Parts: sequence; C-alpha cells; structure tokens
Amino acid sequence: MKVAIIGAGWAGMAAATTVVQAGHYTSVFEAARTVGGRARTLVGQDASGAPLLLDNGQHILIGAYTEALRLMRLVGVNPDIALLRLPLALRFADGSGLQWPKLAPPWDALLGIASARGWSWRERLALLRLALRWQRTRFACAPQTSVADLCAALPVRLRQEFIEPLCIAALNTPADEASAQVFLRVLKDSLFSGRGGSNLLLPRIDLGEAFPQAAARWLRAQGAIVRTGTRVQSVVAAAQGGWSVDGMVFDAVILATSSTEAARLVSHCAQSAPYAMTVPLCDWAACAQALRFEAITTVYVQGVAPPSGALLPRPMVALRSNTERPAQFVFDRGQLGGPSGLLAFVVSTSQGERATLEQQVLQQAQDELGLSELHTVQTVVDKRATFACTAALERPGAQLAPGLWACGDYIAGPYPATLEGAVRSGTAAGLAATKV
Ligand SMILES: Cc1cc2nc3c(=O)[nH]c(=O)nc-3n(C[C@H](O)[C@H](O)[C@H](O)COP(=O)(O)OP(=O)(O)OC[C@H]3O[C@@H](n4cnc5c(N)ncnc54)[C@H](O)[C@@H]3O)c2cc1C
Repeated sequence: MKVAIIGAGWAGMAAATTVVQAGHYTSVFEAARTVGGRARTLVGQDASGAPLLLDNGQHILIGAYTEALRLMRLVGVNPDIALLRLPLALRFADGSGLQWPKLAPPWDALLGIASARGWSWRERLALLRLALRWQRTRFACAPQTSVADLCAALPVRLRQEFIEPLCIAALNTPADEASAQVFLRVLKDSLFSGRGGSNLLLPRIDLGEAFPQAAARWLRAQGAIVRTGTRVQSVVAAAQGGWSVDGMVFDAVILATSSTEAARLVSHCAQSAPYAMTVPLCDWAACAQALRFEAITTVYVQGVAPPSGALLPRPMVALRSNTERPAQFVFDRGQLGGPSGLLAFVVSTSQGERATLEQQVLQQAQDELGLSELHTVQTVVDKRATFACTAALERPGAQLAPGLWACGDYIAGPYPATLEGAVRSGTAAGLAATKV
C-alpha cells in the first residue's frame, strides 16, 4: 500500500513508523521546515549571539508513557540516556510539597502522601482517603464532573498546592473546567500502572532529537519519503479509488495535522466527496472545529550558576502561582544537559501579553527563588498548545471514510493533549490504515 501522512508531529511520525514496519510505502508531508510540530527543537540565541538549542516549550514525560518510549527505542534513541528519570515530585523551592519514595505502587503514593512536607496530618489523611476512594471506584466518574467537583471535599491548601498544579500540568486546563474522567485516567495510569509509571522523565536532549528528527532519519533509511516545507492544500477522493493529496494518489491517507487544519482539509474534501461520505465528513470537521485551545508560554532566562553547582536545588521546581506570578514550574536546563544557568519557566493556561508575562516571571524568580540577576533569552508563546480538556468534551474519532484516517493528540482517547496521546493515536491510525 501507499500511505500518505500529512503532518510530521509526534503523531504523524508514530503513524509513519507503524506503516513502514507493517511493510508498506509512506510519504510524509510536513508544512514546516522542521519535523516535530508542537514538540520540536527551536534554534535561539544566547546573550553573545551564539546559537542555542531550545524547545518549542519545555516538555515532561512520565514513566507510564510506554508508547513514546517504545517508539524512541525503535528509531535509535535510548530513553535511559535521553531522559532523566526522577521519582514523582511536586516540591516548591522551600522543600515543601510531595516527593514519592522509590517504592512499588501503591506504597510510593501512600508513603509519599503520608510524608508530604508542610501539610498537616488532617490534610494528608484527607488526600489519602480521597485516593483510596478513587481506587475503590476504579478511577471512574461521570463524564460531566470537573476536577474541582471531584476534589471539592479536600482542604483548600491541598486543592491549591496539589490538585490545581497537577491538573494544570497534566491537562493544561483549569480545575473548575477540566475533565475529572481524563484526570483520573492519567492518575490511574501514572500512579498504579506499575513500578516507575509515576516517574517524571525530563528530556536531556532537544525534543527534535528525542523522537521526530530521529524518526525522520529512520524512515528515510527504510526508503520512506519525508518532505518538509510542503503544506498540503487538498485531499480529495480519487476517481480511480484511493485518495488524491495535491494530485498524488495514495491507497490511504492519515491526517496528522492540528485539529483546525484537519477540519479545513476535511471540509474541503467533503465538497467533492461521493454523496454517502458528505455528511460523516462534515460532522467530523464540525466536531474537530469546535475544540477550544489553551496556551502555554515558556520563558527561557539565563542566570549565572555558582561555580559549585546549579541555580536551582533540583532540575524541576514547583512554583506558587497566581495571576501576578504566572509560572507553575521552573526547569533548570543546566541540570538537563543544557548550558549552565539556563532556566525554563512554564506558564500553563497562559493569558496576557508576552512582555507582561516576561516581567512577571522575572519578578516571580526574584521573590520565590531569590534569583535577581536573570535576563530573558527567548519567550515562546504557543496560543494553541493543547485542546481545552473540559468535562464531557466530544472529540472526533480516528476514521473519517474508508481509507481516510486522522491522528493527533485531540483524537478521541483516554488522554489529554500529550505526547503519549499523540503517539498512541498515530500508531493506532498507522495500524488501522494498513489493515486489509
Ligand atoms: C508549550 C507546550 C508544552 C507542552 N508540554 C507538554 C508536556 O510537558 N508533556 C506532554 O506530553 N505534552 C506536552 N505538550 C503537548 C504536546 O506537545 C502535543 O500533545 C503533541 O506535540 C501533539 O502532537 P501532534 O502530532 O498531535 O500535533 P502537532 O505537533 O501539532 O503536529 C501537527 C503537524 O502537522 C503539520 N501540518 C499542519 N498542517 C499541515 C498541512 N496542511 N500539510 C502538511 N503539514 C501540516 C504541522 O506543521 C505540525 O508539524 C505541550 C505542548 C506545547 C505547545
């Protein structure tokens, strides 16, 4: 079979490797000059004007992201070297917060909660009781429940210092809107999927090399075509069967673009499709078009690390955030294979102007971390970083018509917009498209 894949983000590259592994031909079309989509490498500049490898945004993976780890290995990336594996921790600069000990589940969670620093016994017991209730109910709840509803019984401090940052980190959606069903699924898979599932995996290499660029090299070595700088304009049903992508005919097509671009291509395709396909294609496009988005801003700043060590006590530190102090986490890229003193402040669900955010983050760094001699290197604002993972959200499915598939982090599935959601959807589409 000849399969076209439109989009070379993590989902598209997962689909392409799957098609090739199943013994078929694939051509990948990517609009940008580089592969990787929202999880790609950016080339910035340091203070002296020298090139500096950054990411489109600071990313974290978790141990339960098994499909992403499998694909990295497949294309020759060793996750044990590429990613720093740390026990789950949500600790602030003053050391308070949670740190899971190196034990098998559920003991790591139980002991982690019981020994959380800065929380009273009443607070720890309340969280333990709720966690046990979730386990008893098999992490299930009604689709319309929000994370705020789910955790309403917890003391205010736990909601503010644990649930809300966790929800923002995992779903990039505020707790009062976020889907409790998806939140519980992430908790279940990370906390109860087996030893190491809850570990945080922090990239020690740039995101492009962590998978998409390595995948492009692997695909080309297998004879596949990966064309960058090629924006597909139209997909139409071909008269002789199959699908035409800008005039080239394929047996199957996988749309691996963003939801908005997939909706544009599908709406256009519906106009000339056989009558029986028109309504399902229009319905699919309407569902994809209706998704809302949340922004993420990453503020990269440079400071001078002391000769004895790093700027931060750990590679990842939680921050106490509010409207004036917008960042929820800060990462010490110097401890993650990057230049010493380079920090990445992450503002999830970010709002407001770039310049204001930069100023607020520098102030937050001074107030909360005691770091004053910092300057901004680059600020990356991604206004459509993730779909808003709200309660009872309807997400489009993977099959659009015979031989026409879609994949991406937004396709119906158990996860929020994550690398794992994207690659799982890509692998599934690659398998489905080549099943005869
Ligand atoms: C700042 C930021 C921080 C994030 N943090 C995390 C995190 O910590 N952990 C985590 O798991 N996830 C995180 N995410 C989410 C994660 O990056 C995404 O879920 C994932 O990258 C989505 O991959 P995708 O392949 O589905 O889509 P995309 O990456 O959007 O890929 C779509 C590709 O299609 C291409 N394209 C579009 N239209 C066309 C066309 N017409 N023709 C050809 N090509 C086209 C685009 O250029 C793009 O390369 C973050 C995202 C952002 C932006």
